[in-house]
Amino acid sequence: MRRACPLAVWATVYRVRCPYCHLDDDRVIDSRATDDGTAIRRRRVCNPCGKRFTTYERVEGEETLRVMKKDGRTQPFDRRKMLSGMQVACEKRPVSTEALEAAVNRIHQLLLAEGDREVLSTRIGALVMSELHGLDQVAYVRFASVYRQFKDLDEFMHELRHVIGGGKPGAPDASMDRS
Ligand SMILES: [Zn+2]
Repeated sequence: MRRACPLAVWATVYRVRCPYCHLDDDRVIDSRATDDGTAIRRRRVCNPCGKRFTTYERVEGEETLRVMKKDGRTQPFDRRKMLSGMQVACEKRPVSTEALEAAVNRIHQLLLAEGDREVLSTRIGALVMSELHGLDQVAYVRFASVYRQFKDLDEFMHELRHVIGGGKPGAPDASMDRS
């Protein structure tokens, strides 16, 4: 039995053949983008022989990572869109832009490290929720309550703006009217 490891999420995906014993049973012990951001460097350890080796996964360009929406259409992964959605959820909350950018980086790097070219939009939503959960409870609840209904970042952001703005789509001031 393999021991549980904090990096198990990364460790279980995509094994490659060990250059020493040629078996393909390794685990990833470290995974990060190179400084210039053009590759993912993975430090691996071979389970059968215990030797360590490194693999690099090159990012071919902005289009490398695509997001598959509910209806099956795909679009390029857009960091700015994700950041913008999180900023809307964190409006008037004590969460810095730096903290949100760091969260976006973590999500982006995790997705790149997983190696899938296409990522379900629902997966991205779940990752955003998980990050917001650690940053700010109010932002998390805002995001989660709206996101669970929509499961699509475009629709979601449209609706979230209305929710946080205090009105409903098509009736912007109705809920603010106290008379
Ligand atoms: Zn080996």
